[in-house]
Amino acid sequence: CARSPGETEFHQAAEEIARDVITVEKAHSGFAAARVLDRLSEPDRVIAFRVVWEDDAGQTRINRGWRVQTSNAIGPYKGGLRFHPDLSLSVLKFLGFEQCFKNALTGLPLGGAKGGADFDPRGRSGGEIMRFCHAFMGELCKYIGPDRDIPAGDINVSPREIGWMFGAYKRHCGEFHGALTGKGESFGGSALRVEATGYGLIYFVCAMLRHQDSDLEGRRVAISGAGNVATHAAELAIREGARVVSLSDSSGALLAEDGLTQDTVDRVRRTKAAGGNLSELSGQRGLRYLEGGAPWGQVEAEVLLPCATQNEVDETELRAALDAGAGMIAEGANMPLTAGAVSLSSRKGLIHAPGKAANAGGVAISGLEMSQNAHGQFLDAAQVDDALRGIMRRIHDTVAEEGRTSDGRLDYRLGANVAGYRKLANAISAFGAI
Ligand code: NDP
Repeated sequence: CARSPGETEFHQAAEEIARDVITVEKAHSGFAAARVLDRLSEPDRVIAFRVVWEDDAGQTRINRGWRVQTSNAIGPYKGGLRFHPDLSLSVLKFLGFEQCFKNALTGLPLGGAKGGADFDPRGRSGGEIMRFCHAFMGELCKYIGPDRDIPAGDINVSPREIGWMFGAYKRHCGEFHGALTGKGESFGGSALRVEATGYGLIYFVCAMLRHQDSDLEGRRVAISGAGNVATHAAELAIREGARVVSLSDSSGALLAEDGLTQDTVDRVRRTKAAGGNLSELSGQRGLRYLEGGAPWGQVEAEVLLPCATQNEVDETELRAALDAGAGMIAEGANMPLTAGAVSLSSRKGLIHAPGKAANAGGVAISGLEMSQNAHGQFLDAAQVDDALRGIMRRIHDTVAEEGRTSDGRLDYRLGANVAGYRKLANAISAFGAI
């Protein structure tokens, strides 16, 4: 904390992991001597740069871009790019730190990183966003590459933006190779990458329920967010027979007492892609719109899937969700609960899967995209779907095994932190003091 004053999100993420793994580090002389946690808490490097672009009125605009390369202990740096006006170094350091543990859990050789810019695409034309992406990559391309650092999408960075950035990468570096994942399938992207995080989340939830000899059929599921992760999670949950009772965006929440249909999810996608808000669906049959609010506790739900952003669920909202029947939470977003909400979740014995395990499906399929690019051989959607199911099941089982507490409880957060840490610590302690 002393080395990174004011970085509240980063402190929150680092403290949560440290609490769970400090005893493992102290008990292992090699890990303790290598000071694994301290090393991971200081990124390998932080790159910050100016992004200059021109808006539609011909005015020069200036933003700040970053890439935080946290650790390449078990593979090249890997993690998404986020465009958001509230983006800060603290947010990127927390995301890069969590990414190291998540990527370790996938079982693939992937290090951890995160990046992006304080650019706000809201209200910008397609041409402006394209020029911003080209300018951003004009600088970032100096620091990435298929064996070095492979960015992907995140909030406000969809396959469209990845396409613009890949075009700029090719132009600047003169190479066609897999320096980005989440690409379109016509230029090296993997089938099902777009769906992978949301689908993987539902496969993880199914594994949690199977562990209790149950399934999703007929269960009421509350989801926040209306982007990539949220809408694909909703789509697969509906297909698995669940009743998805909400989605949300930064304008408010869309509630459906009897459950959303696939048709409504498609309409949400179209509305968001056109730059609209969920308020536009207000008043349609079977839907209730809550201006400015989150869905938690507004409608009865047993399974909570926060899929919007960090710290979106506070203690009061979680208490309301518990009163409305919540018994299980699986994080589609990264660190969506405030520290107070995490503590309430523990005290109430909520079955709670952290994002580093439950939302790892996206980066896992990015890992497959990298190997498909390296070998020039591509899998079809059914093959990728099979691989995704297998990876999410294996992550679940690893986390469940490590998360068994001495009193017989299953603590998914403890399991994910310890399992990820062990993999990283084994590598880092093997390198010596370098
Ligand atoms: P998108 O940009 O596609 O969607 C983000 C959604 O969250 C939008 O509906 C947005 O609403 C909403 N949102 C953003 N900020 C807020 C806020 N402060 N309050 C309420 N709603 C908000 O992003 P993704 O779906 O890709 O990412 C969502 C989360 O999942 C992030 O935490 C991301 O890090 C995580 N994640 C994503 C992965 C991926 O593969 N895409 C992989 C692993 C994790 P609006 O449109 O109104 O801004």
